[in-house]
Amino acid sequence: MKRERPLDRDLPTVGDSRRHGLKRLTVECSQLGCPHERAFTFDELALPDEMIFIHVPRYRRFICSRCGGRRVTVRADWRDHNAHGKGQR
Ligand SMILES: [Zn+2]
Repeated sequence: MKRERPLDRDLPTVGDSRRHGLKRLTVECSQLGCPHERAFTFDELALPDEMIFIHVPRYRRFICSRCGGRRVTVRADWRDHNAHGKGQR
């Protein structure tokens, strides 16, 4: 049984990202020299709201389809978000 450490409570969760209007994340391969990355929607990965964003690779085991690497990093994909309300300042 895994328990969240107190520190983890400060980290943004998938639910936080959803509330900010985010629908996707980008998974990047951490292998040196491998530029492979792929975007997934939260729904596609069936991520629960309480999931810590950067812990997603622990929950979903991504394997790079290009080099077979298992070390990946995830980052928020703001592409959809940025398209909304552009030019309003
Ligand atoms: Zn790779």
